[in-house]
Amino acid sequence: MQITKNVYLLEKMKGSYVYLLTGQEPVLIDTGMKGKSHLLMQALDELGMIPKDIAHILLTHQDVDHIGNAKAIKEASNATLWSSVEDLPYIHGQKKGTGVRKVIQTLMKVDHPHVDQTYQIGQKIGGIEIVPAPGHTPGHVCLLYGDVLFAGDLIMTKSGKLSPSPSFLAWNKSILQRSIREVGKLRFDYICPAHGDPVRGHSLWDALM
Ligand SMILES: [Zn+2]
Repeated sequence: MQITKNVYLLEKMKGSYVYLLTGQEPVLIDTGMKGKSHLLMQALDELGMIPKDIAHILLTHQDVDHIGNAKAIKEASNATLWSSVEDLPYIHGQKKGTGVRKVIQTLMKVDHPHVDQTYQIGQKIGGIEIVPAPGHTPGHVCLLYGDVLFAGDLIMTKSGKLSPSPSFLAWNKSILQRSIREVGKLRFDYICPAHGDPVRGHSLWDALM
């Protein structure tokens, strides 16, 4: 489903959505739950693309439902895989989170991908600005492309309404709330989360403040 110019939601990845930016340097945002790489490839094919067209894969954070197909897609594409430096040891499987996250990371084994590059503050990759938004995990980021905010798991949507990502999964609840306030100061119109459908209208963010 096309969201706006050059921005697509890969609906086949429902459960933990993946977004695709087309254009000169195509970018995948997150990679969904493991075992779905064939669905991701199909979604690319339906848009007339092959994995080798992907220049960058940007991970919003370390969770298994976001990095699940990163290794497979990276191998099929030769794309550069990016993450925050804080979440990198978890993505590489060298460290586990705490609490519920530790249980999930222990039970849901993924093929850990190798991250090629870590984000620098204020950096733009393929026209996408990296916006640090810690709280859900230590190194969670949002991504801003024109008037489109890729929110990762900072927030989620249901029936057109926004809510913070679940507090039982928050690495740090007060830092999560602070990130929600900070991201709310940015200019955007389209809000694209991993969990729940995209919504439109910056004013929807007010419900979170
Ligand atoms: Zn998630």
